[in-house]
Order: sequence, then structure tokens, then C-alpha cells
Amino acid sequence: MSRLPLGEMPGGIHPAEHKSQSNGTPIQPAPLPKRLILPLNQHIGAPAEPCVAVGERVLKGQLIAAANGTISVPVHAPTSGTVSFIGPQPYPHVSGLLSEAIVIDSDGLEQWIELSPRADYRSLAPAELLAIIRAAGINGLGGAGFPTAVKLSARSAQKIHTLIINGTECEPYITADDRLMRERATQLIGGIEILAQLIEPADVLIGIEDNKPEAIAAVQAAIGERPFGLKVLPTQYPSGGEKQLIQLLTGAEVPSGGLPADIGMLCLNVGTVVAIHAAVLEGRPLISRITTLTGAALSRPMNVEALIGTPVGELLAFAGLQEAQLDRLLLGGPMMGFSLPSLEVPLIKTSNCLLASTATELPPAPPAMPCIRCGDCAEVCPASLLPQQLHFFALGQQHEQLKAHHLFDCIECGACAYVCPSSIPLVQYYRAAKADIRELENKQLKAEQSRQRFEQRQERLRCEQEQKDAERQARTEKAARARAALAANQTATEPGAAGAAPAGLSDEQKKLKIAASMAQVTLKKAEKQLALYTDKGGDTGELQAQVEQLRGAALLAQSALDAALATTSPAAPSAPVADAEQALKKAKIGVAMLRAQVRKLEQLEAPSAEQASQLQGLRSQLAAAEQELEGLPNQLPASGEPAPASPAMQALKQAKIALAMRRAELKKAEQAGADATELPPLRAALAAAEQALHAAEDACGKPAPNLQRLDKRPIDEATRTLKTELALARADLHKLERNESSAAQALSVARERLQAAEQKLQQHTET
Ligand code: SF4
Ligand code: SF4
Repeated sequence: MSRLPLGEMPGGIHPAEHKSQSNGTPIQPAPLPKRLILPLNQHIGAPAEPCVAVGERVLKGQLIAAANGTISVPVHAPTSGTVSFIGPQPYPHVSGLLSEAIVIDSDGLEQWIELSPRADYRSLAPAELLAIIRAAGINGLGGAGFPTAVKLSARSAQKIHTLIINGTECEPYITADDRLMRERATQLIGGIEILAQLIEPADVLIGIEDNKPEAIAAVQAAIGERPFGLKVLPTQYPSGGEKQLIQLLTGAEVPSGGLPADIGMLCLNVGTVVAIHAAVLEGRPLISRITTLTGAALSRPMNVEALIGTPVGELLAFAGLQEAQLDRLLLGGPMMGFSLPSLEVPLIKTSNCLLASTATELPPAPPAMPCIRCGDCAEVCPASLLPQQLHFFALGQQHEQLKAHHLFDCIECGACAYVCPSSIPLVQYYRAAKADIRELENKQLKAEQSRQRFEQRQERLRCEQEQKDAERQARTEKAARARAALAANQTATEPGAAGAAPAGLSDEQKKLKIAASMAQVTLKKAEKQLALYTDKGGDTGELQAQVEQLRGAALLAQSALDAALATTSPAAPSAPVADAEQALKKAKIGVAMLRAQVRKLEQLEAPSAEQASQLQGLRSQLAAAEQELEGLPNQLPASGEPAPASPAMQALKQAKIALAMRRAELKKAEQAGADATELPPLRAALAAAEQALHAAEDACGKPAPNLQRLDKRPIDEATRTLKTELALARADLHKLERNESSAAQALSVARERLQAAEQKLQQHTET
């Protein structure tokens, strides 16, 4: 045994020990109860998950509830028997509330499962050792019940250099660890060797208070030549607090709010170490523990090794409980223990002591008095806190102040309340304040999580809306581009179209635009009237004629407008070649169609006068169309590519065609003997077409033709025939002349025919 220089612990008290009541006799095996109650949450963390069903037979050591996550601990059957109930059962808590548990009716056979001891543990990897400890259902047996496997799990940033074994057992009355160290020191040292292999610490320190000389001797003997340091500490409460023990053994101080691992240390209770030894070298899960049964109400105080789940009433009966003497039943010692609500509650893994006290042994605390600011509480606080200030803030529920004054560094040792002359139950205030703060923080955490979910939802909705808006905007822009392209196309192919008229029209253009619009409106009205009369079965001949005239007038007005607009259209720098080709193609098709119509009428053996007149009109149109077509190749550039047709030229072309059509219509009406009411509109339409042609020619820069208005009179049949012959002869000659492959003889015949036709017409006119 080495007595190394010790650190110092602030505060501390020396209450009466009362340890001799129970430490004089060896550990006794507790009798096997008929029923065992196994709560699912005997540890810090998530409750275990039952893996057996009611009515199922289980063996001693069999897993009955699996760990539910990392911070959880499994539960095993302490004896063989039958699962009789799973649900709420009495639980050792000051609240008296029930808790989920598995109830086993024992069969008295104590039939074990097959165990898997690992005497060869030195060949196991750390992870395998940890798995064995985890599967054995071990949590800290000294008090809080933190899962041991989690505590032992390696942390890359926190290398454990010092392993500390806590054998202080500083609380009065409790002697379980004392008897364990006396009787099972070999297992204790064996467990330390397992831990040393697992975490490979530089130092192993065992701390035992000097009021346990037998335990110190036993442990020292078991250590032998092993490099484990045994440190004997002066008896002082609460030297067994984890942070206080570290400070006593090493002089190092665990930072406020931190863990021993933060300074490279790890602390385990001696009972926990022995349980690790049993798990690895015997293959036994944690199904029992050593518990002190003490107090003046017991006739045979002792330490027992009892099965987890044994009702405390049965244990106390085994220790000779004198119920008439019993005043308070505490789980734990008088400093940190709490009153049990009934004798039905079971022993759990963290139950180190049952204190059955009489009224004289632990008299009720006197009524609390106001704080007198004596400062005694601060003197004894092992955590260097200001208990009176904490009490003051707890009364006012000043949570921020409580946290600022390190309430959560309080280990609830009760030293402050022990010395308080005003008998203020200080620890109760601290426990209540801690519970309030935790509950509030949980609520705030949930509220924060809800807020984050809400904001994430809002963000998601905003993104969806932005995407919709972007898609809508894209569709709008696409439609606008399509309309613009269509308008540009119309401007290129139909110069001067009303919808494409450029902004900033001249007065003349405005007048023409209005006139075109009015002509369209008048035409639409007339067409509606015609449709109305047609539906009623009335005589629509005259109305039809008017509609035709108005249509012609509208066409002419539009042509005039187109031509005028073409003069101000932005000069097409270079119209697409495709447009020029399109115009050429269109002209060719027009010529081909007219030729087909002419050919069809020419093939008639006995055409009527009307057909002859129609033929004459068609030939005129054909001649004009061919002339127009002849002009198109001249616009092609020298390279042979089609020359782009300017909007003005196209308007001019349309004006010419329109004029030819008006002439044909008027001629047709005159030949048909139209009356005085029908001819004026046709003549007006012809005049408008001439006017439109002038405008179109102006737009092209061509000099206006010297049109001579002829007041045509009806001609006789002979004259018409001669004129027709003359036109046909002229057209035939033109046709032959345009064709480079025409035979010279054919040309000669055609010229003679034309000459003859001219002579005949001249002779007829002179006569
Ligand atoms: S109960 Fe808390 S405040 Fe009181 S002495 Fe112990 S550690 Fe200090
Ligand atoms: S010991 Fe009691 S009376 Fe004295 S300061 Fe602390 S709380 Fe107040």
C-alpha cells in the first residue's frame, strides 16, 4: 500500500457513521422471492424494450428486455420462471408513480441459461470486451446508473490516462462496498485488470476511506505486485462524489459542467467493477447486487446479495423488520437517500441501501426557518457553491441566475442542509429547480424544433412559389417572343399589315388606316346582313353584289394602307433570302393557276359569251401576273440567289393584282348588262385600286403612271371579238418571246397573227 500525497476537497462534513450496524456480518444470500418485478428503466437513458411475452418461461440470466438505443441497458431474468405480467408496476421513486416492468413468477429451480465465460479475455479486442459488458446489462451500481459500456467507450479526443476505482462509500449507514471489498477483493482486482486492458490507462488509483481497514487490507492483498495505486482517504463526507474523489486522489479539478473524461479520467464504483468481472470471466449478466439492509427498525441488519426485482418488503423481512418500529424507509443513506412510498417496490440495480429507521434514529426535521445568512452552507459545500444564493434564486424561480451560479454542479450531497441552523431543506429546492429548468429546456427545445420545422416549411413553400413564378414568367416571355416573331414575320411577308403598322404614322397614313378599318367594318356589316337574309331565304342577289363590291373596296383600302406604310417601314437591310424565294414561288404558283384556268376555258368548243368574257379577263390577269413574274428574277442578285423582295415591292405587286381584278369585275358586269345601280360601286372600287396602285408606286419610288381615265362605253360584239383576238395574239407572242426555246417560225406566225389582229381592229374602229 502506498500513501501518496493527496489533494484537498473543499467543504465536507463528518456526520455520525452508523456503519457498524451492518458491516459486522458477511454478505448473506437473500431468499428467492416468489415474484420479481423488473422495471425497464433501472438506468439513465431509454427504457429497455421487452423481448418476452406474458406466459413465456424464462431461464435465469435470460435476456428479457433489450437495450433501446445506445444510451440504454438490457434487463435479464434474475431467476427461472414464467413471465406473468408486463406493464405498470410499483417503482422505487419518491413520487410513488408506477413504471413499466416485467413480472416473473419464479419456479424455484434457479435454472440458468448456458453461460459463456471468457477466461481468455486478454485475447479479445476492446470492442469485443465492450460488447460483453454491454450485453451483461451493467450500469453504475454506485448511484446514478449511467450505462457502463457507454462510459467505457473510447473517445478519440479524450484518451483516458487515469482509471479511478471508487471504494470510499462515504455515506453513513451504507456498508455494501465495504463488505464487497472485504469478501471479493480478488474479483475486484480481476475486474480492474479487465478494465486496464480495455482502456489502457497510465495509472490506476483505488480510493478507500480510512474507516474501512479490513477492506483496505483485503484490496491491498489482492493487488499484490500489480501497478495499481491504493490511496487511503480520511473519512469525510462526501469524498465519494466523483468529482470530489478525483480532486482528492489527483488534485485535478473537473471543470464546471464537464465530465472526468474531459481531463482524461474515468471513475467506476467497486461494485460495478466486480459486476464486469462476473460478466467477462463467468459470463453472468447483472441479475443481483449487494445491498445494505440497516436501521434501528431491523433486528438483523446486514448486507445481502439479492436478486434484482426482489420486493424490498421481503428483504426487510429477511433482516428482521420490526414494522412497529419503522418510522421512515429510505432507499440509500440518510444524506442522499429518499423515502420509499411502499414495501412493494422492487430492488433495482442502483439500490445500494435500505434504511429502515425508527423515529428516534432519524427524527423529523424541525420546521424550516428563514435564512439567517450565516454562511455555514457555503463552508461545507464540496462543489464550492453558494447554497444560500441558490436557495434564494430557487424561491424566485430565477432560472438564469441559478444556471449562472452553477446549480447543475450541485451533487445533492445534502451537506448544506445538514449544517443549516434554519433547517431549510435546501436539497429539495435544488432538485425541484433542476427539474423545472430541465422541463423548461425540453419545452424550449421542442418549440425550437417546431419553429425550425415551420421555417423549413415556409422556405419550401417560398421556393415552390418562386419556381412557379419563374415558370410563369418564362411562359409569358416565350409567348411574347412568339408574338414578336409572328409580327415580324407578318411585317416581312405582308408589308403594311394593319397590326404591324409602325408607330408614328403620318397624317396620310392615319387617314388610310382609318379608311381601311372603316371599309372592313362596312364589309363585316354587309356580310352579316347577307348571312341574315340568306338564312331567311330572301332574295340576296343585290346584297351579294354589294358585299362583293365592299370586299373589293376593303381590299383596295388595305392595299393603299399597306403601300403607304411600306414607305415608312424601316428599310429592310437585307430581307431574308427565303422571303424572296417565297415571293417568287408564290408568283409562279399564281401564274400556273391562271394558266390552268385559261387553258380550261380555251378548251371549250362552244364557250358562252360569259365564258368568253371570263376568258378575256383571265388572260389579262395572266398577262399581268406573267409580267410581274418576269420582274422578279431581275431583283435577284448577281450571285443567283433570289433578291429579297422589299415590303414596298410586294405591296406594289398586290396593288397591281387588285387593280386587275377590279378591272375584270367591272368588265364582267358591263358585259353582263349590269344596271345603273351595280356599276358605280364597281367603278368606285376600280378608282380606289388605281389610287392604291399610285400609292404603292410612290412607296417604291416609281413615277406615277400617267393614267388616262377613259370613259368607256359599251362596245359592240364585233369590236369585243377583235379586241379579244388582239389580246390573245399579243399574249401568245409574248409567251413565245419569253421562251428561249421557241422556234423562229412559231414566233413569225405569232407576229403575223398579232399584226393581222391589229389591222382588223383598226379597220373596224375606223368604220
Ligand atoms: S447539496 Fe449541493 S449545494 Fe448543498 S452542499 Fe451539496 S453540493 Fe453543495
Ligand atoms: S446555512 Fe441555512 S441559514 Fe445559514 S446561510 Fe445557509 S441557508 Fe442560510
